[in-house]
Amino acid sequence: MADSGTQYDVIVVGAGVMGSSTAYHLAKTGNKVLILEQFDFLHHRGSSHGESRTIRATYPEDYYHSLVMESYELWRTAEAEIGYRVYFPAEQLDIGHSDDKSLAAAVDTCKKHSIPHLVLDREQLAEKYSGRVEIPADWVAVWSKYGGVIKPTKAVSMFQTLAFKNGADLKDNAEVVEIKRDGSSGGVVVSVANGERFRGKKCVVTVGAWARKLVKSVGGIELPIQPLEATVSYWRIKEGAEGEYAIGGNFPTFASYGDTYIYGTPSLEFPGLIKVAVHGGHRCDPDKRSWGSGGQLPITALKKWIEGRFGGRVDSSEPVSTQLCMYSMTPDEDFVIDFLGGEFGKDVVIGGGFSGHGFKMSPAIGRILADLALKGVAEGLELKYFRIARFEENPKGNVKGFADQVRLH
Ligand SMILES: Cc1cc2nc3c(=O)[nH]c(=O)nc-3n(C[C@H](O)[C@H](O)[C@H](O)COP(=O)(O)OP(=O)(O)OC[C@H]3O[C@@H](n4cnc5c(N)ncnc54)[C@H](O)[C@@H]3O)c2cc1C
Repeated sequence: MADSGTQYDVIVVGAGVMGSSTAYHLAKTGNKVLILEQFDFLHHRGSSHGESRTIRATYPEDYYHSLVMESYELWRTAEAEIGYRVYFPAEQLDIGHSDDKSLAAAVDTCKKHSIPHLVLDREQLAEKYSGRVEIPADWVAVWSKYGGVIKPTKAVSMFQTLAFKNGADLKDNAEVVEIKRDGSSGGVVVSVANGERFRGKKCVVTVGAWARKLVKSVGGIELPIQPLEATVSYWRIKEGAEGEYAIGGNFPTFASYGDTYIYGTPSLEFPGLIKVAVHGGHRCDPDKRSWGSGGQLPITALKKWIEGRFGGRVDSSEPVSTQLCMYSMTPDEDFVIDFLGGEFGKDVVIGGGFSGHGFKMSPAIGRILADLALKGVAEGLELKYFRIARFEENPKGNVKGFADQVRLH
């Protein structure tokens, strides 16, 4: 087998947003980095492609707060380095039944971390958004200052470009099939499907929906990460109202808690269309996708929600356009950020299970994965919530006082 001859400080496996952000942080701090991607760079077969991702600070789990707030800063830093924008500011609006425990927990997070926010009833909300968003009388709305939209494909490209500019080697169409201990140097040897081998002192594995497969074959560990195929839907704003839902005014990014968790973004990527989607999907094998035919989107619930929420200004008859993507679900919807352990000790770091909500935090997660690989510790991370071993202690993982948010359909 061919050996590249270069000894890397860190080899990153998987060039979605998490791997690309990690490679950027590693290269920027002067390390010799290689990133390996099984498909073309910026492909559409994983989780990090598309036109928009939401960012918000209103998390029911308060341990995401520091990751979100650090990421807001790091998005700005990376934008300044590349010279274009990937983050578009907006307010955030969370709505749901007044008894909803997740929503109440998100309000607690706002209070605990002094996030500027307002809890509004139906009339106050109607006044704030001039009737553009409506809720039933027994719901509440939580307005908060920190929302926004990130352009995902553009952001991944930004991290890859910045990594390259800082000296990283980038290689696509390179499927990693084996990671082994390097008997001679003590690091790792990473082999790809065409027989090439690469040596590194450390390795970071960020392979999204493929995490269960690769980690099982490399470390013998069964990670409870279930891929889901998710559908994003775009809906037409009725004629004359397009500007009222566009980004850049005060229309917010939004999330609606309840049996069907629905979220969306102001109109940005396709003029006249607004993204309103269900936070969920159907189980899939990342190598044998159904490409949309595998599950039944809860379209009736989605239409009803649109009819009731936008004062008749959005056409709820059919989505105008849809896009597919994959979630990597853990049982508790929390990430997996940990060392692989076993014979690899702290030399192989895993970042996975981002459960349909990781994009916004990718700058901080990349920084943390880089720190874990280089130093064995990372500031600003309460690792206990993200350990692999939590699933041995409880198959459901972290215990929470509120319901799951992602829906299976
Ligand atoms: C529809 C949808 C909407 C979302 N909305 C939001 C949102 O609004 N806000 C938010 O914060 N998050 C959101 N997310 C979640 C977010 O996009 C993901 O958490 C994030 O993109 C995960 O990135 P990743 O790098 O872990 O995975 P991926 O992007 O899938 O990257 C993993 C990469 O590893 C590669 N790979 C796999 N196996 C190998 C191998 N053996 N060798 C080499 N390479 C390999 C894959 O090809 C892939 O490119 C959403 C996700 C989806 C699908």
